[in-house]
Amino acid sequence: MNSITESFEKVAKKQRLLAIETDSCLDAMIANLNACQDNPQAVAQLLSNTKAMAAKLSDSAKDFHNTIGKYSKAIEKKFKTDLDGIWDPKALEGKEYVLYQILVMHFVREGRFDLAKMFAREAGIDFEEGLHAQFEGMFHIQEALRNEDISLALEWAMVHHKSLVESGSTFEFNLHKLKYLGYVRKGDIKSALAYAKQNFAQFATKHIKVGSTALPMIMKISSLMKDKAVEWSQSGELPVTIPLLDTQKYHSVFVCPVTKEQGTETNPPMMMVCGHVISSESLTRLSKGSLNSRFKCPYCPVDSTAAQAVRVFF
Ligand SMILES: [Zn+2]
Repeated sequence: MNSITESFEKVAKKQRLLAIETDSCLDAMIANLNACQDNPQAVAQLLSNTKAMAAKLSDSAKDFHNTIGKYSKAIEKKFKTDLDGIWDPKALEGKEYVLYQILVMHFVREGRFDLAKMFAREAGIDFEEGLHAQFEGMFHIQEALRNEDISLALEWAMVHHKSLVESGSTFEFNLHKLKYLGYVRKGDIKSALAYAKQNFAQFATKHIKVGSTALPMIMKISSLMKDKAVEWSQSGELPVTIPLLDTQKYHSVFVCPVTKEQGTETNPPMMMVCGHVISSESLTRLSKGSLNSRFKCPYCPVDSTAAQAVRVFF
């Protein structure tokens, strides 16, 4: 890379010099011409002066072009990769349709259905209408989501309820949850409750299963605690770990990398400007309780303030 930078600097320097030289030559020629107006005898001198200056300028221009030539050679040397060795003109012989299919799929993925259809027809390959319809549906859903309208996505998820459940997806449940939260956000509690009643029941089995796994353990530990006269003191936390299946885990757990403590409502995870996340208490400690004094992230060299940190929801 250094050789390219050096050549470029040479070109830039020569270009500046040439511009200055051209300007001063032109100024000198104009001055000579003006002088000739008063003294016709000086014309012969003017001619030879002009010729000399033109020759000098032309030499400088040649020199400048040579420098540009060297610069482009330096670039070619660095970036020219010979692909001849890996290129096999016969690789797709007799299999052109594979290439055409890839192109059709590319157009479909871009949402350019008319182009895909026309290309397929001209290339003489089949165009799958079903696939087209699926992608078209997806584009409509995406467009609606961009406008914060989840109704189309929800409609799709409800139609595909069975396969979503089979694959262990929580997509439909999450969409219902979003819609429900939409009502809550608007303060329309009545509609929120009605919506929850109507739509959440179908997902209850899975969630009840979690409760039924946890309950016996909690009963056991509470009787043990009673016997030993210890209290369940930690709020917002269970006294034992409930062994859940991976499919039953809904909330990720945040553990502060500094204090190794689990995040809670009162000590939530906070993300600093650099993207690293630590607990709110660690943040206060690092910033020495000040909102605006700068401190260094414990995991990277980026400086920030406590005021710039944002809460992260898991
Ligand atoms: Zn960091």
